[in-house]
Amino acid sequence: MAASRGVASFRLPPLPTIGEIIKLFKLRAEKQLSQNFLLDLRLTDKIVRSAGSLKDAYVCEVGPGPGGITRAILNAGVAELLLVEKDPRFIPGLQMLSDAAPGKVRIVHGDILTYQLDKTFPKHLEKNWGDDPPDIHIIGNLPFSVSTPLIIKWLENISRRDGPFRYGRIQMTLTFQKEVGEVDVAVIHFTPLVQPQIEQPFKLVEKVVQSVFQFRRKYCHQGVRILFPEARRLEKAEQMLMLADVDPTLRPTQLSMYHFKNLCDVYRKMCDEDPDLFVYNYRHELREKRLKKANFKRTVDDDLI
Ligand code: SAM
Repeated sequence: MAASRGVASFRLPPLPTIGEIIKLFKLRAEKQLSQNFLLDLRLTDKIVRSAGSLKDAYVCEVGPGPGGITRAILNAGVAELLLVEKDPRFIPGLQMLSDAAPGKVRIVHGDILTYQLDKTFPKHLEKNWGDDPPDIHIIGNLPFSVSTPLIIKWLENISRRDGPFRYGRIQMTLTFQKEVGEVDVAVIHFTPLVQPQIEQPFKLVEKVVQSVFQFRRKYCHQGVRILFPEARRLEKAEQMLMLADVDPTLRPTQLSMYHFKNLCDVYRKMCDEDPDLFVYNYRHELREKRLKKANFKRTVDDDLI
């Protein structure tokens, strides 16, 4: 019982189960939209508990679907709950939940990748960045194809303290598939730090991390190499790894925050010395090479006709 956890004074009245709601509104999970629904109440409760105390908090749930996690959030005694759901099929079922918790739930039919969440936040909950996190939480079980670009967007917002993070260090509890296509799901709770561990612009950190993880099962030097144009790739990658104190034969997943911080700091210095370096893009170089090769082949074929 929630009361024994000592957090909730509100309980939803008896409602149809999530399974019954799915049947009632014919909410078949669309596999091509990577929809899968959490029906196990112990699991939805566990996800919500990992967000910490939600008593009297303002919560935004992204992608509520048929509302399994939504019920657990309401039972945790929140003050207000905003639901952002893209698929209109779920709105009537969510409306039923909203009617069962009068004055608490607001439903938005929209896309979380473009919706401006912070417009809905109560002004009085705003905190300074150095303060404790505000009583605003974001919770969601989204498809991998949405949660990944979303968290990257929010990490950039965190680095600039804008978007939802204008309100302070908002905590997020999101689920991620451990590997694309795997069924195992990890629940990750994020609290933005007051001081970033890597004091470099977000785009630079993103470029270094993305490049290193480009070949996630290979030695990390493979990924570091693609930060540099082909002509001086080997020499520059070796220099960067040495200055950053990183063993080139470590795998990307074996690198620590210390390593990434050093890699970013050294890459920043190299970019400051060579202003063309930061705009260099390995994929563009590869695409141009392929295009040149294709054009060359077409010219040769034309000549042979
Ligand atoms: N949260 C529910 C659960 O755990 O049972 C549903 C999970 S299902 C994996 C993902 C949900 O996110 C679906 O309801 C889907 O329609 C919704 N969704 C997908 N992309 C979205 C987006 N860009 N904005 C808002 N909702 C989205």
